[in-house]
This record gives sequence, C-alpha cells and structure tokens, in this order.
Amino acid sequence: MNSAMRNGLIKFAKFSDLLSDLGRVNHGVRRTISVLENAFPTMTWGDPDRKTGPVYLTFDDGPDPENTVPILEVLEKHGIQGCFFLLGDRIPAAPEVVDRILSGGHRIGYHGMTHKTWWFQSPTRLGIETDPMLLSKMMDNPFEDVRTQPLLLRPPFGRFDLTLLERARQLGAHVVMYRLVIGDWIEDQDADRISGKLLLNTRPGDIVVLHDGGSNGHLLADALERVIPLWKMKGYTFGDINQLEGVAA
Ligand SMILES: [Zn+2]
Repeated sequence: MNSAMRNGLIKFAKFSDLLSDLGRVNHGVRRTISVLENAFPTMTWGDPDRKTGPVYLTFDDGPDPENTVPILEVLEKHGIQGCFFLLGDRIPAAPEVVDRILSGGHRIGYHGMTHKTWWFQSPTRLGIETDPMLLSKMMDNPFEDVRTQPLLLRPPFGRFDLTLLERARQLGAHVVMYRLVIGDWIEDQDADRISGKLLLNTRPGDIVVLHDGGSNGHLLADALERVIPLWKMKGYTFGDINQLEGVAA
C-alpha cells in the first residue's frame, strides 16, 4: 500500500468516525476498523491474540488531581497495570499524581503538550507537541525518569498521519492506539452505564481507552470497580503493556 492510499485510508477512517459521532449510533462506542490496523502494523493497536489475549487498560488526558489516584487504587486492588497518556500542560497541577502512577508500577506515555491535534500539522508544530523532553525546560519532567523505556505516543483524538509516523521514527518513539473507545467522556453518563458499555463491548486482546482527565473521569474508578470482577468471571485477563511488541523497554 503506497503513501497516498494510506493517507486516503486515514481520512476515510476518520470520516467514518465522524459519521458515527454524528449518529451516536452506539452512544460513543467505536472499534478501530481492522483494515486500518492492518495498514499500519508499526503502530500498536492491541494484542495479536484476538481470541484469548489479555485486555490492556489505558487512560488519556491526565494527570487529573482528583480522578487518577482512585483509578490507580482500583487497578492495583485487582492486580492490573495501566498505561496513562499524559498531557504536558496538565502535569504541573498534579506532579504527585504522576509520581504515584510510576511508583505503582504503571506506564506513562505522552498525549501531547496541549491536546491540539497532531493531524496534518507542520513539522515544527508537531515537533513541539510530540517531544516530552521539551517539558524539562518548564517543569520537573517525569519523562526524564523513564528515559530507558521507549517513548509511547498517542495522538489526540486518535488522529494520525504519515508525518506523525516519521516523527515517531525520529524520536525513537512507538505509537500506541487502541481497539475500543466507549465514549466515556460523553454527557449523560453514570458509572453503571460506563461499566455496562465496557462489559458489552470489550473483546480479548483489546487495548481500551478511557479518560481519567475527561469530564467523566470521576466516574471511572467506580465503573472499573463494577466491571473488573465481571470481566474476570468471563475469563478475561489483563495485560502488561510492556509485553507488547515495540513497547517493551
Ligand atoms: Zn485525549
């Protein structure tokens, strides 16, 4: 598949995202289409084993001064490792939360300086948004502490293009996407609804994205506390993201 075809595919996939957003056909639930996953095998989308592979829980838009730690407590109670894709401009308000993520044995990745899109940006703009080492000029930078691990990047809104893949290659970074989005940030949610959507839609091998820094981040600890035992009853296991190809240190 050549570059033009891949870029066309990205646009098509995002167009179908947009349509499902407009229709809210499944109340925000979306699965990554497998043709997109197959076209970009250097990015991580989930576990190669879609029948019995573990589920990976990931969290975006934090650190959140209130919502992240209760989520960590639930994960740790159930022996689950999470991966938190942080926003650079949110770290100064909650540096102790980032310390808490790392001391709990979880992984951090970078979701950008400001949550502005990385889609079709100039190399300069993309350079600023994607390099967490620039944070060292402004703050005590937690990414300095994890330099021995590959940098994990996740584009805001899940929108990527070929320039991002080239940028990731330059940084020696690895792009981690997801297979399941449940629209946990959408209004009119409660913990029951979120846990129900998670239970109904998660499949073995999924990387699931939730939003500890989103408007419903306060509901997630409760939702996870409800759904994790039910997932376990269904025989689901939970993965350490470090075990995935390209992600491991
Ligand atoms: Zn985000």
